[in-house]
Amino acid sequence: MTAPARPAPVRIGVLALQGDFALHSQALERSEVDAVEVRKPEALADLDGLILPGGESTTLLRLIDEWNFVPALERFHATGKPVFGTCAGLILLAREVLHPVQPSLGLIDVAVERNAYGRQRESFEARGSVTLAGRAIPVDMVFIRAPRIRRVGPEVETLATHAGAPVMARQGTVVVATFHPELTDDLTVHRYFCDLVRTARARTP
Ligand code: GLN
Repeated sequence: MTAPARPAPVRIGVLALQGDFALHSQALERSEVDAVEVRKPEALADLDGLILPGGESTTLLRLIDEWNFVPALERFHATGKPVFGTCAGLILLAREVLHPVQPSLGLIDVAVERNAYGRQRESFEARGSVTLAGRAIPVDMVFIRAPRIRRVGPEVETLATHAGAPVMARQGTVVVATFHPELTDDLTVHRYFCDLVRTARARTP
């Protein structure tokens, strides 16, 4: 008798052009999936999900353009593979970017204002909770020159709020957070994304 074939491990990429990608890779490994640092668009082909990390969205945009990532990212999303953007990654995924206006991929129907917390509160931590599968789970949220979500579209589910504004949201296979879950030891948010990736993979033939 032969043993049943083990499913291939889930592989999640982290866009590694600039910014906070290394800690995301570590958080993914600790969540028991394979983490792959992505530096070329071709690398997306054998991944099941992708994280766009925090960093500087203007620099990231320039590099994404330089390396011709946009068509590959759009294809990745169109084939139902989940994408998670934190902070600058959220700014890249948003439908609309304000302050100043800048281009974006528009994969989630939110409007974000960059650097929206003013100078005194450029970076801060807050205890909050994320509501995942109907359950509120306490998490520490680290905000670094964070954007603020100013509008969420009707298809967007808010998963967490802070001071009256959404700080984590999801539309279908696209998840965004204005805070940095990779900067705490808590794997709640990464595990949630890994589960979403597993579910999406099980659905594709
Ligand atoms: N302020 C940055 C921007 O607008 C985002 C900051 C971050 O990713 N921590 O691009």
